[in-house]
Amino acid sequence: RRGGGSAPARSYDKLLNGLLADGFDKESCYSRYQSAMYRRNAGRKPSVYLVTKLRQQEALQNRCGPGTVAYSNALEQLKSGKISGIGSQECKYLVSISYQGVGNRILATASAFMYALLTNRVLLIDPSNEMDELFCEPFPNTTWLLPPEFPLTSYTNFSQDTVQSYSNMLRNKVLMKADVDDVPAAQLPVFTYIHLHHDATQDDNLFFCDEDQRLLRNIPWLVMRTDSYIVPGLFLDTGFREELTRLFPELDTVFHHLGRYLFHPSNHVWGLITRYYDAYLASAQQRVGIQVRVFGSESNSPALLEQITMCTQKRGLLPELHTEVEKSIVRAASQKSKAVLVTSLKSWYPEKLKSMYWEHAVATGEAAVSVNQPSHEEFQHYGAKSHDTKAWAEIYLLSLTDTLVTTAWSTFGYVAQGLGGIRPWVLYKPENNSVVPDPPCGQDFSLDPCFHQPPFYDCRLKHWAGTGKIVPQVKHCIDRAWGLKLV
Ligand code: GDP
Repeated sequence: RRGGGSAPARSYDKLLNGLLADGFDKESCYSRYQSAMYRRNAGRKPSVYLVTKLRQQEALQNRCGPGTVAYSNALEQLKSGKISGIGSQECKYLVSISYQGVGNRILATASAFMYALLTNRVLLIDPSNEMDELFCEPFPNTTWLLPPEFPLTSYTNFSQDTVQSYSNMLRNKVLMKADVDDVPAAQLPVFTYIHLHHDATQDDNLFFCDEDQRLLRNIPWLVMRTDSYIVPGLFLDTGFREELTRLFPELDTVFHHLGRYLFHPSNHVWGLITRYYDAYLASAQQRVGIQVRVFGSESNSPALLEQITMCTQKRGLLPELHTEVEKSIVRAASQKSKAVLVTSLKSWYPEKLKSMYWEHAVATGEAAVSVNQPSHEEFQHYGAKSHDTKAWAEIYLLSLTDTLVTTAWSTFGYVAQGLGGIRPWVLYKPENNSVVPDPPCGQDFSLDPCFHQPPFYDCRLKHWAGTGKIVPQVKHCIDRAWGLKLV
């Protein structure tokens, strides 16, 4: 147990019920085996089947990853542009492009990993945007970072117009669906690009259909661009549904487990997390995380501040305040303490909350409230090193709280809720920025993140449809009416 003065040491399971493999060198990544020590919420249990599948994936990453003969052969094939006999079916690869903010990148990587697990592909991630510095390696004895000599030199610029995109290949008849199961491997392209950026067209989204997955199955190299959490879309594919249900009997834990498996803060980030936690959060009896995501150039909003106080006080997350001058001041024998962790680009919100709890007594008279903010970077920057490091540390700190309040639409908040295993109170998006929504917030019904730009096409019926109604396990999100999430 952390903090709490003389409290007895709590035993903790550093391997998270078998989710993590044993035997990594601990100095290269302290967070991997120390994280359980910092989590009061031990989280949900992974299924035995998921644990088995993860060990198999680790073996696959070892057998086919960078530095192996299989990898050299696969690179040769990619360079030649043709599928040849050697090792063509033994090892297949998925390269995930890393772009956008830290939250988006984490969700995209977890989605790519889920797809790799379902299709027996080796996952390699684009190391740009600090992906190589923010996280430790997740697989033992190999690397998940795509090595620099990758022959598709401009892959990070792939877009909707790339001729090798799956939808363009279909349109140009480089790929034909007619005889999907009979296409000889030699006639398939050696790679295709999967465009699932938020401007993906209906044709790009055919990726989520069974028939298209059968065609993609034998293509050795896939390069994928997404900034979303696409797993709810994968569940719409009947070919993946049974396996997903077997891997995750509790479906809303997909990101919870994959996130805890994949994303271990690097030693530098872990230093930021643990020093902050020990100084400001460890000794409190209760920790409340509040994520105030300020988008674009929004100015400080009194309505948003009111939304936060209404939500936290009416839902009993923070104590209500006395409005009159105190009549008596008594020091309770056992003072309760709440540490509030506010993450935001702006300092105005935590400063206001801090003053509120200093200038007024709390109505219940027994809770001391401290308000803390690790950083206030003022504006969002892309690709700035210390900025991303702090963002990742703050996401992780939020995940260590007991109760969480998040902002609608934010992947930063989704990652915190998933890692923490917390169903957060979501601050609804106001229709008008100067009016507080009523109610101000609602508790999410699932731990899993929201897929912001899902397909609106029913593959079976072959027409546009409300994909939120195809199966009961995939519902519309609490914070985004057209988004989809697993329940
Ligand atoms: P989203 O845009 O809310 O979905 O979250 P992302 O993490 O993908 O992108 C937002 C980026 O803005 C983050 O990665 C940070 O770089 C920055 N950012 C936004 N809010 C915060 C915050 O509270 N703290 C810090 N340190 N950075 C933030």
